[in-house]
Amino acid sequence: MKTKTGDFVLPGDALGVTEEYDPADWTFDDEGKIRSLVAGTVSLDNRNKRISIIPKTNYPSILKNGVVVFGQISEVRGQRALMKIEGVKDTKRSLVTNFSGGIHISQADKGYVAKLTDEFHIGDLVEAKVTKIIGLDNVDLTTAEKELGVIKAMCTNCRAYMKQMSKNEVLCPRCGRKERRKISSNYEG
Ligand SMILES: [Zn+2]
Repeated sequence: MKTKTGDFVLPGDALGVTEEYDPADWTFDDEGKIRSLVAGTVSLDNRNKRISIIPKTNYPSILKNGVVVFGQISEVRGQRALMKIEGVKDTKRSLVTNFSGGIHISQADKGYVAKLTDEFHIGDLVEAKVTKIIGLDNVDLTTAEKELGVIKAMCTNCRAYMKQMSKNEVLCPRCGRKERRKISSNYEG
């Protein structure tokens, strides 16, 4: 079965293979299979060998590689921090789907990171760049740029938002606790 322009597809539907086409807007590469991220209509660009989807509803913005998103850290494991994505930076509306993102320890900062808990804590607000769409609701993220990382740090002790002290340290104005973070140059406070 071949997908053609105008076909209506649902999230997760197979559209083609990456040997033949490049996954473009609203699609993702699922181990060589191109699948749709959303419900919508197929658009095949045979000259440039690209498959994209025109979404059925007006999604606020396209989640694709290189886009900066913001959200809240929900979990910090040994090698990976998880973030609930709340929206795409510089757009006012939030995402329709509930995307979550993972930041691998190697993508947290430019240099070597010994402990991911020196970079992020649960509750922190973070800006990160999408590096790969890995599923219908899941992306890989990086914060290894100056203007990416924590924009508001939440105190592990009392959950107040903390003030920036130095390049990688924050201070809680309520309880006086000092912690480390991967702080963005856009830190608020
Ligand atoms: Zn505190």
